[in-house]
Amino acid sequence: MKNKPIARRQLLLQSAAGATWITASNKTSEVDSSLSSFDSSKIIMTDVLIIGGGTAGAIASIQSARAGIKTVLIERTGQLGGTATVGGVAFPGLFHAWGRQVISGIGWELVRETVEMDNGTLPDFTIPPSRHWNHQVHINPFLYSALAEEKCLYAGVTLRYYEFPLSIEKTQEGWLLECVGPGTRIKIGCKQLIDCTGGADVVGMLGLPRLREDETQPGSFLFKFGESYQPGREQLQSVYVHGADSSTSEIRTKANLSGRQEILKQLRRKIAQGDKNARLIQLQPEAAIRESYRILGEIIISHDDYIHGYMYEDAVSYAFYPIDLHTKDGVIPKPLEKDIVPTIPLRALVPKNSRNILVAGRCVSSDRLANSGLRVQASCMGMGQAAGATAALAAQRNTTPLEVPLEEIRKLLHKHGAIVPRT
Ligand SMILES: Cc1cc2nc3c(=O)[nH]c(=O)nc-3n(C[C@H](O)[C@H](O)[C@H](O)COP(=O)(O)OP(=O)(O)OC[C@H]3O[C@@H](n4cnc5c(N)ncnc54)[C@H](O)[C@@H]3O)c2cc1C
Repeated sequence: MKNKPIARRQLLLQSAAGATWITASNKTSEVDSSLSSFDSSKIIMTDVLIIGGGTAGAIASIQSARAGIKTVLIERTGQLGGTATVGGVAFPGLFHAWGRQVISGIGWELVRETVEMDNGTLPDFTIPPSRHWNHQVHINPFLYSALAEEKCLYAGVTLRYYEFPLSIEKTQEGWLLECVGPGTRIKIGCKQLIDCTGGADVVGMLGLPRLREDETQPGSFLFKFGESYQPGREQLQSVYVHGADSSTSEIRTKANLSGRQEILKQLRRKIAQGDKNARLIQLQPEAAIRESYRILGEIIISHDDYIHGYMYEDAVSYAFYPIDLHTKDGVIPKPLEKDIVPTIPLRALVPKNSRNILVAGRCVSSDRLANSGLRVQASCMGMGQAAGATAALAAQRNTTPLEVPLEEIRKLLHKHGAIVPRT
């Protein structure tokens, strides 16, 4: 394979900090491909490839690129943030537990800057919340996705929207993926892969084992009836969508159809009643998904370990949220007992018997009840940063995630502002 000179595409970025114009180069090299059997003549080579730029994936990408590693992010929609933005769940939690911050780092930086730039307010974390959601942070989702994108570009992440992987094969170095999007068909070679698709889609494509319940928690379609909506100041309304999960496009289509039908039904009822709020003024593009596949990892975080705050020897992040299982009858959150803060071990981000692949987000290896608490956004961001740091170090050392010394991972996470559990 003959190397061509690196194509240096110049990106004009406005620095968030200084509002000065700076130039960043796209760090990903493009090389001629004699391997390619496609019409496309190019293979993109990178060190770390992240699939899914949602809650966890955007943070994983920024961390990997900030560690100085070539990073590519593939996202099937046209923006970052996933459930927090496209889904409309713009109230991430929980970063604080029992009077102290337990999740910080890149996710918190992004959330805090979104609130500041939007002239919003953070909850007073010194006041113990009467209900857990009092400590969730209300963010403007439009601003959040724009800032996440800017941070990716500034760190040197190559963003590829509207694409998704069609096939994956193992190579000596790591992986070769065939990715497609409208008018695009491309191969991407990488050393390390991070599956941040929410439902562990990539892990499924590799035929690695996943866990799934017969009946999953309902999804929700978020919308707003009324005369005005102030994003970042108020929460949207929602309807449950039973049977919604992210496993297939067919299930997602059904979920969107039935969610929108229900919202139309409610709107028509309001119109018939002469309700002055009978206007649909906000409707998210798709149903937000609570549960689908989780991975079977090198360890499964159990409900018992979660509610007792078990300190795993390879803990890389904290998590904090009540047990929060939604059913047909609704949800009754079960708060954690005083001073309990669960931890996330690196092994729960590693599919069993795998090499060169990690996951982050709601598909973390856990039993169903533990997952109902682990799946929330602050915890997904903490996992994302831990996976991004681990993949970056593994790529740098030409090794696999579980062979990277834990101390190195923790050092890198500390350097980038994360709170790492003290074991
Ligand atoms: C209705 C609802 C209410 C919730 N309430 C709260 C709350 O109050 N507070 C809280 O903190 N959390 C809450 N959560 C939980 C939380 O929002 C999610 O669990 C979390 O955001 C999931 O993060 P993730 O990164 O795993 O997935 P996502 O944020 O969903 O990201 C997955 C990304 O991957 C992309 N993707 C998927 N498949 C592919 C593919 N094959 N190729 C390319 N891209 C792909 C998607 O487009 C998406 O951008 C709620 C969830 C729901 C559904």
